[in-house]
Amino acid sequence: MAESENRKERFWDPVAGFGVTFRTMFKKVVTEQYPFEKTPTAPRFHGRHQLNRWPDGLEKCIGCELCAWACPADAIYVEGGNNTEDERFSPGERFGRVYQINYLRCILCGLCIEACPTRALTMTNEYELADTTRADLIYEKSDLLAPLLPGMEQPPHPMRLGADEGDYYRGAYSAPAPSERGPK
Ligand code: SF4
Ligand code: SF4
Repeated sequence: MAESENRKERFWDPVAGFGVTFRTMFKKVVTEQYPFEKTPTAPRFHGRHQLNRWPDGLEKCIGCELCAWACPADAIYVEGGNNTEDERFSPGERFGRVYQINYLRCILCGLCIEACPTRALTMTNEYELADTTRADLIYEKSDLLAPLLPGMEQPPHPMRLGADEGDYYRGAYSAPAPSERGPK
């Protein structure tokens, strides 16, 4: 009995091992060639944040800091500023003068975008957030603001879509700002 088992180990097991190799050679390759070929994420994937704009280019952020208070990782820093008639960045009284997200801390949980009352803050599908220095992983407002699309104008500028912020918030403009991407 021991002798027959020994013979099986010596002759059959190596052949069986090569059998696995040959079968695998003809299967579809599953290795992902990242970063040369990028696979799209799930549509609701939580990636880098974006600060959205109204269709006239004004910023949706009102500097309320609710996102910063909601963040469990203390990754967001906001300082609000006052709009004036001569220098307006958002409809209403306040805007986000300083806005930072520290991606060394952020766990991409999405609680901040749930807390945002104006849908200023959403998350994109962008996941390539690695960098070579710690400082470069603190994203400033200029890194997070949505790009200006056709029809938008770089703030500061007056409200182009109505007489007051209520016109913006009441949804007089049924189409969402085209800059909005990603899930809420
Ligand atoms: S996704 Fe989560 S951890 Fe990251 S900034 Fe928002 S609340 Fe904080
Ligand atoms: S992103 Fe939203 S929650 Fe955060 S400060 Fe701006 S308006 Fe407030």
